[in-house]
Amino acid sequence: MIADAGRVLAGGATSNWQIAQPQAVWMSHGQGSHVWDVDGNEYVDMHGGYGACIAGHGYPAIVEAVSRQVTRGTHFAQPTEDAIWVATELSRRFGLPQWRFANSGTEATMDAIHLMRALKGRDLVIKVEGCYHGHHDSVQVSVLPEPEEVGPPDAPNRVPGNTGIPQAIMDLIVLVPFNDLGAVERVLKEHDGRIAGMILEPVMMNAGIIPPVDGYLAGLKELLHAHDAFLTFDEVKTGFTTGPAGATGRYGVTPDIVCLAKALGGGISVAAIGGTAEIMSAIGDGRYEQVGTFNGNPLAMAATRANLTHVINDAGYERLDALAARAREGFEDHIAANGLPWRVVSVGAKGCVAFTGEPVRNYRDFLEVDDRWGHLHWLMQHNGGVFLPPWGKVEQWLLSVQHTDEDVDLLVSNFGRLAAVAGRS
Ligand code: PMP
Repeated sequence: MIADAGRVLAGGATSNWQIAQPQAVWMSHGQGSHVWDVDGNEYVDMHGGYGACIAGHGYPAIVEAVSRQVTRGTHFAQPTEDAIWVATELSRRFGLPQWRFANSGTEATMDAIHLMRALKGRDLVIKVEGCYHGHHDSVQVSVLPEPEEVGPPDAPNRVPGNTGIPQAIMDLIVLVPFNDLGAVERVLKEHDGRIAGMILEPVMMNAGIIPPVDGYLAGLKELLHAHDAFLTFDEVKTGFTTGPAGATGRYGVTPDIVCLAKALGGGISVAAIGGTAEIMSAIGDGRYEQVGTFNGNPLAMAATRANLTHVINDAGYERLDALAARAREGFEDHIAANGLPWRVVSVGAKGCVAFTGEPVRNYRDFLEVDDRWGHLHWLMQHNGGVFLPPWGKVEQWLLSVQHTDEDVDLLVSNFGRLAAVAGRS
């Protein structure tokens, strides 16, 4: 049956990013920190559904909340009381007063870009080279461009991230490198009065993991506000995997807009967008129509409430921090024992190996990272019983509150075999 999947499913999977060579890994079920494929192979799941499954699988409080809601109606396209609870909790954590919901990270960042443009009445938006914000037109620019496409660092090419993206829309994006306040200042001056705002991942997490240098996020906010432009943090990946209030809480900088998705819903698809009173008033008074049939879906809201209550709390983070430290130390030991220049980069529940000896501060540095090791690492983990995202150096592992020390030790020992091979080569 699965050998035949390509006949009815384009590319033989349900998203292009589910296709690992030679074919997608077809899942049967998951429980706790483990998943089983249809052939009965069991893996420790550190793919985590591309960063969504911070609760692991079948977390009892989430199962209970979703089961209860299933029997009471799965969809009304009208708000339920859980939405007020979730919005109140997100306001408390992220310091932004008002929220709306959507279904995917793509929708959240699309609303953010629309809002920035609508409120400022300007079309230009600053985007960081190498940041991914979903698959809508405005942000499909220089996502993972090839080295031969990128152009000079001080005048980067706008490279389409997909086919079907109009040049006219790409021309509205102004590219800057990550971790470079000077570049942002320059483009703000160059396009004075024409820039609506800037969107970025506050920790780059679609090019391995690249943390912000000290003062970068606060500096952005200051610069953008000085030029009457907005700052949006796309926390679709960093929200809840870097701390209970995402990178906003971790680095202590509250932007004008925060986008959340992935780990928010405890494994159910949900997204949220939060903003200042000024920005969200445009939704409230209808200047901007933030809409969607499934927005605030009752199942998603029930799951999100249970997730925020029982999983993404201080106790959850204590557990995640301990697991993350165990992983980091294990990787560092293997790197040192084999005399390798590599580094393990870990922020909160997310981690990866930078297969380079050089500092990685932006996408241009990341292009120097050796992806052959990234791919081999994925294969070694896969064959060693740990399921990671099939994207070599690009993606990260995600720890969940249901992972055990033994799960982390398996991840580390599989890496040890790779490090031993690299050390000999
Ligand atoms: N923003 C970021 C930072 C992401 O990593 C992703 C997904 N990888 C998205 C937005 C898009 O989210 P979705 O796939 O839910 O549309």
